[in-house]
This record gives sequence, C-alpha cells and structure tokens, in this order.
Amino acid sequence: MALLQIHQFPCLSDNYGFLIHERLSGLTAAIDTPDPKAIQRELERKGWRLTHILNTHHHPDHAGGNLWLKEHAGCIIVGPSADAQRIPGIDLQIGEGETLEFGNAKAQVFDTPGHTRGHIVYYFPDEDVAFVGDTLFAMGCGRLFEGSPKQMWASLQKLMNWPGRTRIYCAHEYTQANGRFALTVDPRNQALIKRMEEVARLRAEGRPTVPTTLYQEKRTNPFLRPGSRGIRAQLGMEGAADVEVFAEVRRRKDRF
Ligand code: ZN
Ligand code: FE
Repeated sequence: MALLQIHQFPCLSDNYGFLIHERLSGLTAAIDTPDPKAIQRELERKGWRLTHILNTHHHPDHAGGNLWLKEHAGCIIVGPSADAQRIPGIDLQIGEGETLEFGNAKAQVFDTPGHTRGHIVYYFPDEDVAFVGDTLFAMGCGRLFEGSPKQMWASLQKLMNWPGRTRIYCAHEYTQANGRFALTVDPRNQALIKRMEEVARLRAEGRPTVPTTLYQEKRTNPFLRPGSRGIRAQLGMEGAADVEVFAEVRRRKDRF
C-alpha cells in the first residue's frame, strides 16, 4: 500500500486542491491553498487534521489561503526560501537539494524558477509522485511572469530526469486548451492526436486529466520536446538550440 494517500478536488475556476495524508504518522498536508474553505471542507470529509501546508509559489491562487488555514488548523507552512517574503505565514523555508521529511515520506525539493522567481516543486521518489505547482502542466508549462526562457527550460530539465512513471500533479486543469495549442506546433505527433481524443472524452464526462505522467508529457508536451524534428520543422528552426526552440514555443503560446 502506498504510504501517501492523495485526495484531489477542483476549486476556484480551474485550480486543483490536493491533500496528502501519510498513513503511518497521520500527518496531512495541503499542497498550496487555492481555496481555504474548500480545503477545510475536504479535510472534514476525509476526517484528516491539517498539519502542514506545502507551498509551491506565492501567487494568490496558491498561497492566498495560508493565513486563514493556519489560524484555523495551527499548521506549519513550508515554502520556497528563494521567495520567503512573499509566502504568507511561512514557518519553514526550503529549497534546491533539500529533503522534506513528512512523517515517513520524503520529498526532494527542486528550485524551478521561471513562472515566478521562487517557485519550488516537491518530488516523492518512493511514491513516484510530484507536485509541480505552475511549473509544468499537462501539455503545457507555466507562463514566464518572473523568469527567462533559459531559466524555465533549465527548471523543466530537472523534472525530466525523473522516471517516466512519475505521476505529475499540476495545479490547474488547462489540459484541453494546452493540447489545442500543442497541435499547432506539433501537428503530426500521433501520440498527441490520440491523447487529445482521450482528453476530450474525459472532459466531456467532467473528469480530471490530472495527474499526468512524465512519460505522457515527454511524448506530447511541446515544452518538453524542443529537440523534436517535427516541431523544429514546423517552426523552421532545424538548426536552433533547444532553449531557442523552447522560447519560440512559449512565445507562440503567449499569443495563442
Ligand atoms: Zn501561479
Ligand atoms: Fe496558479
């Protein structure tokens, strides 16, 4: 049996809330705090007591519920050391190369600047699970609000080192819109075409497309595929460096 139980629920317009419960110790964490009242309700439904908040970055749809939940639950707030000033109520600062002990579970922390300066992700290697906030999305990646394409590409490459079976919990249900864009830069990718049919079916049934897997993303996410011949041909960038192709894909997505 897996050590971590993961409870996922939609909130706000297109965010996901995640609660993780470590079975042996009983510790329970909210990954980010998009909607504190929804999180509270889901905690009650599960009969779990909130002990931690694990923040990925400072945006209001990720850290906006921190103080309300801390006041109600008395939990510990963990967040990026690179952005501690902007994480409300932060108790424990963590960053690249550090391990967070969560009961008997261990999360490796990676700095993934690009979407924001101080974004981090939490990777539980023994569980094959990662919480990636707004760094990587199904068939997409976060907008570059505070970082360069070079930074974001370096961040994504860290994630690409994980095993393909890693389940990627991203913070938004953006999959179908991302996929429509992906088809414009990678139109002949059969895995992408097939995936879009699957996504259309899931969404028509009101079902989530999150989590995804790293394997799926490497086959279908144009932001992880700047080396792809098909994408390079489509963009007329056969001889460019990966980071230049990545930057061009990101620019096109911003205008899409
Ligand atoms: Zn964000
Ligand atoms: Fe967000």
